[in-house]
Amino acid sequence: MAKVPTVKLRNGVEMPQLGFGVFQIPADQTEQCVTDALKAGYRHIDTAVSYGNEAAVGSAIKKSGIPRAELFITSKVWIADATYEGAKKSLQNSLDRLQLDYLDLYLLHQPYNDIFGAWRGLEELNEAGKIRAIGVSNFNAAWLANFVLGDTKTKPMVNQIEIHPFNQQPEAIEIMKEYGIQPEGWAPFAEGRHSIFTNETLTAVAKSHGKTVGQVILRWNIQRGIVAIPKSVRPERIAENFDIFDFELTPDDMDKIATLDQKLATVNHDDPAFVKYLYGRTL
Ligand code: NAP
Repeated sequence: MAKVPTVKLRNGVEMPQLGFGVFQIPADQTEQCVTDALKAGYRHIDTAVSYGNEAAVGSAIKKSGIPRAELFITSKVWIADATYEGAKKSLQNSLDRLQLDYLDLYLLHQPYNDIFGAWRGLEELNEAGKIRAIGVSNFNAAWLANFVLGDTKTKPMVNQIEIHPFNQQPEAIEIMKEYGIQPEGWAPFAEGRHSIFTNETLTAVAKSHGKTVGQVILRWNIQRGIVAIPKSVRPERIAENFDIFDFELTPDDMDKIATLDQKLATVNHDDPAFVKYLYGRTL
């Protein structure tokens, strides 16, 4: 089975560069999908309180019999719990649902509510060994700079943001580099939008390597130093998305893919209506 490369986070924790995302997988399908992913070779799983499927992820992990130390498990605090006390309770609830003693990475899911208070909670849990690494998600460049320069003792180790060929995020990645924060990309396939799998440029690059468009996109992430977490409910795609370590994109391929950036985000975190929608979600 292919060895997934790792990136070293600022505190020395090694994070596999390819993981399996479980957003929008119904809870009653998640155990099977995670089982398929673990069989295919994934050891890094990305879930969240708001996905409603942590318990199913936990069951799949337990049944797999894979030693805990070989796994990298991420979850995320939802907005309603993004306060000092709320974040601490949220972590314990996540651990209980996942049937784990510690998490590898816990993220503030969104840049809203009392994120500084919530962060102090995560810092304490990190110091107590309950979370090996802590980070944020959906923080744009300015919010990230404010967070790093503001009232935080520990800087985020990861920022998980939307990254795909149509939304390449060069500015956000640049600021993360400056502050030593690992970029992690969600929706590597733009959630299947914008006819990404039949895009002419991506198809041509894929053909030249005897690979699929999905594999090219994931490889592009890996070669940009980004952690990628594709989602699929289909075992054959789960396996396909893992089979990306036997080829390399050329500098010319990378340049061609760079031309596809249109800053096409699937959601707009600056839109008050979107913020209102998120606050209104009941889990
Ligand atoms: P995605 O991975 O970009 O796309 C998933 C879509 O692509 C699904 O429709 C899937 O269909 C299809 N697909 C997967 N592999 C394929 C392949 N090889 N060929 C053709 N189609 C393929 O979308 P995502 O789930 O939104 O993002 C990935 C992960 O990022 C999530 O699961 C979650 O862990 C994380 N995420 C985080 C945030 C955040 O706010 N932090 C937001 C969104 C996502 P099938 O399932 O039918 O195969």
